[in-house]
Amino acid sequence: MSRAVTATIHMAALAANLARVRALAPAAKIMAVVKADGYGHGLERVARALAATDAFGVASLQDGQRLRAAGFRQRIVVLSGFDEPGDVPELTRLALEPVIHHESQLDLLERAADRRALPRPLWIEVDTGMHRLGFPVRDLDAVRARLSRLGIGAEHMLLMSHFANSDVAADPINARQLDTFATLGNAHAIEPGLTSRANSAALLNFASARDGWVRPGGLLYGISVLDASNGADFGFAPAMTLSTRLIAINAVPAGDAIGYAGTYTATRDMRVGIAAAGYGDGYPRDAPSGTPVLIADAPAPIVGRVSMDLIAIDVTHLADARVGSRVTLWGRGLPVETIARAAGTIGYELTCGMTRRVAFVEDHAPVDAHSRVAENAR
Ligand SMILES: *Cc1c(COP(=O)(O)O)cnc(C)c1O
Repeated sequence: MSRAVTATIHMAALAANLARVRALAPAAKIMAVVKADGYGHGLERVARALAATDAFGVASLQDGQRLRAAGFRQRIVVLSGFDEPGDVPELTRLALEPVIHHESQLDLLERAADRRALPRPLWIEVDTGMHRLGFPVRDLDAVRARLSRLGIGAEHMLLMSHFANSDVAADPINARQLDTFATLGNAHAIEPGLTSRANSAALLNFASARDGWVRPGGLLYGISVLDASNGADFGFAPAMTLSTRLIAINAVPAGDAIGYAGTYTATRDMRVGIAAAGYGDGYPRDAPSGTPVLIADAPAPIVGRVSMDLIAIDVTHLADARVGSRVTLWGRGLPVETIARAAGTIGYELTCGMTRRVAFVEDHAPVDAHSRVAENAR
């Protein structure tokens, strides 16, 4: 095969990560967030692995249609809700549960041709401080009253909010958002089971938010967005390994520059392996010299600029490296968080950014078998 870039999706890791979330938040229901094609892992594939969830969270109606077309019968919450009149009956037809966050959506509901067939339940998003989506807190009464005039009962109105900076536990906005949400819930006598606020970072950082419905995305894929940590630090396993092969090994004399613009100069006589992968596959062009890859299971640094199809790697210290050697770009043994940090982004952006020429394969081996393999290889 001329292009060998493969994203291996570890199905058992996804399932184990879901179980790990359950263990962390045993009192909560879980909405497994599978937006952006399951954070780039493949929507239907991820949904199969996470079938034990209480609900799926998707960004758009289209994703809900895909899940229903694939036969999934779990609850599905559409996080961006709807924005066209035709969306309303379609949500109802497919039993998709929209988040409503804006006046314009209440207008659409009120203008619906058949009021008896409105989607329900509905998830009312309030803005507790992030200022992205959500009704102002002071409007909640009016929103609930308008829904109730449409025949939607309180048992079909959930209350949700989203954290602006839950990955930084010490940011005082977290306490304000927790507080505002709790006060609102009490004021409207909303049952705890009808509330939702915690994303992955809030799940890890705030025990008090592990109630109602938790909405993890990243952790299910084994990715942490907390500073200087990896999903593995909290018992989560990477769900994607991105790998390729070396297609050349060259001798580069000390003093010569490597790659476009010559951003790296060989510090000594070097052996440089060329991996068949680049930003054309979704590997970040911003990853600087020194960003690690694994050759077989041994770490080695990339040298010079990442190009569209190729990455240069210093393999001087790896006598076994040869044309055909497996190169792990991230995943098992090399957290995607490490690569993301080097490139100035978060793991989510990397897994979401795989391009169409990457081949996806499913790995169905149990998680334990893998860690044994990894240990033996050490
Ligand atoms: C994406 C998203 C989540 C999941 O966030 P993670 O950081 O991946 O856990 C939860 N809730 C909403 C509203 C989202 O948009």
